[in-house]
This record gives sequence, structure tokens and C-alpha cells, in this order.
Amino acid sequence: MKPPDSAKRVLIIDDEAIIRHTLADFLSECGYQTATAADGVQGIELAQNEPFDIVLVDLRMPRLNGMEVIATLRQSHPNLPLVVISGAGVLQDAIKAIRRGAWDYITKPIADLQEILIVIDRALEKARLRVERDRYQRELEQLNRSLDAQIARQTADLRQQNRELIALNRIANDINSLDDLDLMLQQVLDTTVDTLQADGGVIRLYDPHRQHLTIAATSHLDPSILPIPAVVPTSEGPVGQVVQDGQPWVWHADESSAACRSRNFASGMIVPLRSGDQTVGTLCVATRERRDFSPREINLVTSISNQLGVAIARARYAAEIEQANTELRRLDTLREQFIQNVAHELRTPLALVRGYVDMLHQEDLNAQERKMAIKIVSQRVEALVELVDAITTLQELDSQPLRAETIAPRELVETAVQMVRQRANRTRITIDMHCPPDTPPLIGDFERLAQALHQLLDNACKFSPPESVVSVNVQLTDETLNISISDQGIGIPHEEQERIFERFYQIDGSTTRRYGGTGLGLAVAKEIIQAHGGHITLKSTVGQGSTFTVHLPINSSFPSPPPGTVIIL
Ligand code: ADP
Repeated sequence: MKPPDSAKRVLIIDDEAIIRHTLADFLSECGYQTATAADGVQGIELAQNEPFDIVLVDLRMPRLNGMEVIATLRQSHPNLPLVVISGAGVLQDAIKAIRRGAWDYITKPIADLQEILIVIDRALEKARLRVERDRYQRELEQLNRSLDAQIARQTADLRQQNRELIALNRIANDINSLDDLDLMLQQVLDTTVDTLQADGGVIRLYDPHRQHLTIAATSHLDPSILPIPAVVPTSEGPVGQVVQDGQPWVWHADESSAACRSRNFASGMIVPLRSGDQTVGTLCVATRERRDFSPREINLVTSISNQLGVAIARARYAAEIEQANTELRRLDTLREQFIQNVAHELRTPLALVRGYVDMLHQEDLNAQERKMAIKIVSQRVEALVELVDAITTLQELDSQPLRAETIAPRELVETAVQMVRQRANRTRITIDMHCPPDTPPLIGDFERLAQALHQLLDNACKFSPPESVVSVNVQLTDETLNISISDQGIGIPHEEQERIFERFYQIDGSTTRRYGGTGLGLAVAKEIIQAHGGHITLKSTVGQGSTFTVHLPINSSFPSPPPGTVIIL
């Protein structure tokens, strides 16, 4: 029989001293450490207080019998080997003891002590196997728990991935199906915030001209309660930084600026909305609890933002195309109206001319009638030439660039006055001109500017009573040269003052009107002045007279965009 690896401790509980001692001596000799107890009570006490590897217990003992000892110890030491020493002929008891938790039994009297060693060895081996089994079981349980945790993590991860895929799909759908940009931005933002389980979000759009961003949509945020700035300049803060760098920015309030802290959010992510190499806005999501965004979440928001960026650029192009189309339609309508007006304006005088020419072919006209007919034909032809000249000027203004030459304002005004002198003389109108001698030169198209001033002077003479005064005043301000033409004529009702600058508009457009004209003079003058970056203002009182003032920018290159049409004072 092989000796135990290290001295195992054996407790022997038996009321018969001879058996106790015999067993103890024998086992000590075999290398075991032994302890003995003379009854069940003592045995239990020892077993409870000291560590034993095996207990041999007699069944029939005074005070507490072996059966009770087994029951008690089995409860407190589930893996402790208990071996029954039973009297011969009481096998029944041994079986009962085994059912209560004993592992084996030895019958008394013990004929061969070696048998005891076999029983002890078997019990110890069983105990060792049990310990090992328990260890494996614990390890198995631990493995199961960690597997369960891993599966739970992977399931949660898969669920999140699934949510993200559904979100991406919904967002792609929204982007493709919604024509209303505001609604689309709102839905995409709501989906993004929900998918990331964030607490708020905002989309801002970038205005490259004003160099700032404005809020286009918010989610779970009420801008009237939370201090989110409605306008963010690109020179400031994380949002501005994202527009400049074109890169996502993750922030944590405890690490970043006060700007983030003040919004009651602990963490957030700002991602640029990109279209090609342009940033058209930003998408921000934020959480109240501190949170690290995973690279997958950052990628998800970046991918959403890229889709949004393209959609925003597409919507902007569509709006621009729509605007261009509207402008084209407007120009087309104007062109049609213009052609109709021209045809109409030519047809009436031409019909008259034809009538008088037919009349001149008649033999029976006397000299006075013939003279009268020739005078009318010549007047109408003159008016037609004037009309064609005005139409040609308008067309040239649209298609030909202006000349840029240095102009002395005095020379310009004198030329215009000279052009109208003959008409003024016919009704003995005095033209009074004031131009300071030190007026600095202008840059512009001399011929066109003289034409515009002549038109205003011509109207002033045309709508003024004989022997009245038309005055021309040149004044210099810091930014403009102002040339005013005032008359003492019929004046213009306030409600007509804007319309008279429209092409072909005349206050009295009837064929029986008192004053001749084409209705194009002021339109020509306005367009010439606008092409020089200037504008015309008008002050007029019916029955008292009118003052048209031409404001021409000095020190500025032209043509500049027209600063507006006509300003009525
Ligand atoms: P027209 O060839 O008929 O003069 P314009 O375009 O020059 O055409 O002027 C448009 C209309 O504006 C004129 O028909 C007239 O009714 C009014 N108008 C222009 N200038 C004056 C003025 N100095 N005084 C009064 N009415 C004027």
C-alpha cells in the first residue's frame, strides 16, 4: 500500500478504546496523523474545530451515535470522507449510514488492518476527485458566465448595428424622397439623435458670404430655453473650427471650453456636412452624461453628414436653377412686351405717315394743304427716328460695354445744355447753369452720360411753360457728383413718379396727347446712369415743377451692380 503524499489527518471516533488505539497506532505507523474521540459529541467537536482529511466513525456509541455524527458532519463538511466502523452482523446499519452520507464502511472486528488502508485510500481518492470535480465545475460555471456576458455584448452590438443600418436606410430614404429641405433636415437629425441615444442635436447651415452658420434644425432642444446661439461666426468656437478644418470634433465639457459647459451637456460630437471639398454646414449631437463616441459612431454620423451635405448642395443648386429660370421667364416676358410695344409705337406714326403720303399723291391738293401734309410727315418721321434711336440705345446698353474716359463735369453738362439749346430757344426758356470750377473729373462714357442729361433737359423744356427757367446745378459730396435739373413745369403726380422710368410709360399716352415723345427717354437715362453705378432721384410737385438729380459715384470703378432703381423723395 503506498503511503500518503503528505501526512493526511485521520479522526477516529469509537467508544471502544482498544479499537481506537489499535487503529491510531496502525495508521500512525503508516504515515497518517491521527486524532481520536471516545464518543460522537467529542468527535463532532474535534471535526468542527480542526481540519481532517477523513473521519472513521463507530455506529454504536453512548451519548451521540454514529448515525447522528454522520448526519451532522455531512451537513457542515459536504466533501469530508466519512467511513463507518460497524459491528459484524449489522450490515443493515452500514447501509443506512451510507444513505445518510457515509462513503464506505469497515466491519469489526478488523481482521486485516491492511483493509483499512484500502478503504481509507479509496475514500481519500474519492475526496480528491470530488475536489477536482468541484474545481472544474466552478471553472465551467465561470466560463459559462463569461460566455454569456460575451454573447450579451455581441447581441447588444449586433442590435445597435442593426439600429444603425435601419437608421441609415431611413435617412437615405428621407434624403431622396423629401423635397422640403427643412423637413428633411429635421427628420434626419431626429433619426440620428435617436439612433445614437443622444439627448439633443442641432444642424447649422454655413453662409460663405456672411461667414457664419445659422440654425436649420434642432432635436430635443428648445433654443428659446437653452442658450444656443442662433448665429455662429466661423471664426469662433468648435463649430467654426469644424467648418474651417472639415474634420469631426468630439468634445467633453470637463475638458473643453465654457461654451460647451454652459449648455448643460457633458459630451458631444460636431461633424461637418460636406459636399465635395466644400463644407455646407455642421451636425452636432450631445449627451447629458459624459460619453465616449466609438469610431463606428463617428463614422456613422460622418456618413449621414456626407449624404446630407450632398442633399443640401443639391437643394441649393435646384433653388438657384429655379431662380435663374424665373429670371429667364421674366426677361422673356419683358422682351415680348418690348417687341409688342415697339411694334405698337411704330405702327401708329407709320400709319399716319402713309396716310399723308397717299394724300400728297392726290392732284387736287392746294399748296397750303400740301405744305401742311409735308410738315406732319416730317414731324412723324422725326419722332420715328427718335424712337428708333432710343430703342437702339437701350439695345446697345445691354450688349456693348461703356467707354471709360476721364470727363470734366462742366464740359459734360455744357454739352448736354448745348444739345437742348435750340428747343429751349423755341419757347424762350432760360437755362441757368451752376457748376463749381473745382469739380474733380469723373470716369465714364462721355457720350452716354451727355445723352442721359440731354434727355432730362429735353423733358424739362418739353414739360415747362414758355419763358420759364430750367436750372442745372452740379454739386459734389464725399462720394457722389450730383447733377440736378429743375424745371417750373407741370410736375408729376406722386403715384406716377416710379412708373415714368419704365420703358414706354407716359402719363398721358393717348394719341391726342399734348406733348410728343416716345416714352423711352427716362428709361434710357436711368439705364445709362445705372450702368455707371449711379442712380436718379426725383422730387416733384404737380403745377410747380420737377427736379431730377443724377447721382454719379466718384472714385469708383464701373460698371458696378445697380444700387437700386430710382429713389423717389
Ligand atoms: P417721353 O418721351 O414721353 O418724354 P420719358 O420717358 O422721357 O418719355 O418720360 C415719361 C413720362 O414722364 C413723360 O411722358 C411725362 O409724362 C413724364 N415726365 C418726364 N419728365 C417730366 C418733367 N420734367 N415734367 C413733367 N413730366 C415729366
